[in-house]
Amino acid sequence: MRWGDFRKSENVEDRTGAAGPGGGFPRGGGMKIGGGAMILLVIVGLLFGVNPMDMLGGADDGIPVSTPTQPAPGYGPLRGAPAGAGQVGSPARAQDPVKEMVARVLGDTEDVWGAVFQTMGARYDPPKLVLFDGVVRSACGRASAAVGPFYCPADRDLYLDTAFFQTLSRRFGAPGDFAQAYVIAHEVGHHIQNLTGIMRQFDQQAQRADARTRNALSVRLELQADCYAGVWGHFAQRRNLLEPGDLEEGMRAAAAVGDDMIQKQAQGYVAPDAFTHGSAEQRRRWFKVGLDSGDLRNCDTFAARAP
Ligand SMILES: [Zn+2]
Repeated sequence: MRWGDFRKSENVEDRTGAAGPGGGFPRGGGMKIGGGAMILLVIVGLLFGVNPMDMLGGADDGIPVSTPTQPAPGYGPLRGAPAGAGQVGSPARAQDPVKEMVARVLGDTEDVWGAVFQTMGARYDPPKLVLFDGVVRSACGRASAAVGPFYCPADRDLYLDTAFFQTLSRRFGAPGDFAQAYVIAHEVGHHIQNLTGIMRQFDQQAQRADARTRNALSVRLELQADCYAGVWGHFAQRRNLLEPGDLEEGMRAAAAVGDDMIQKQAQGYVAPDAFTHGSAEQRRRWFKVGLDSGDLRNCDTFAARAP
């Protein structure tokens, strides 16, 4: 992937190296986030259905976490803040190639989705990407790196632990910069869902559903984010910014984070009813749907009979 040719985003906030368990943020006196079900609905990641144990402060451990005083601001129709308005936090340091790559991939997602939204007569309001290590505070609560990369709809930020790419390479067997770009593009896909209102619809349906149905809805949500990641990859490819092997690298990564792969590794057996993100085959396939077509209308995983 010729990521050096991507425009660098200014929407990266580097919180790595921040002192203290709050990810460098002062502890607010806010409400405590309650049970796991609520958390499940407010954070969407690349890997697992969010395990409350991984959300520090999510369990009843007496650690207060802030929650937004307003309802999740990202819900609803497309919002109209100027694209790329203002730099948030400290810029990613240019000398770190991983951070540089992250900022440039994010920048390219801004350009691609900006153009896609324009064709729909809308304006793309890009998310902020927070780089962290260890623990981070978000409007969805405090999260440890163990949850993997995630998107918090309430503050509309992407959270990426800088060590995750090593995990992706070593534990999941998916090395390479395009594999890493897929991870970012997947979380940006959740932001697209937030902007278009799909995530709010998901929330409403999931809240009424039993656990099994909720998991099935979550799989559709996640596969759609994979498909949206593919849509971004499609346009990167069309501009000759990919290199031989990149597409295979991305599809390998999408498959590697399939629920069946993770379950097999973690518990030695596969329980499809517990899938929240889709099987390796599903994730690779929906990523490819986006890659091949470049059309988000083909990403309607909710309409598909069997996604
Ligand atoms: Zn996800």
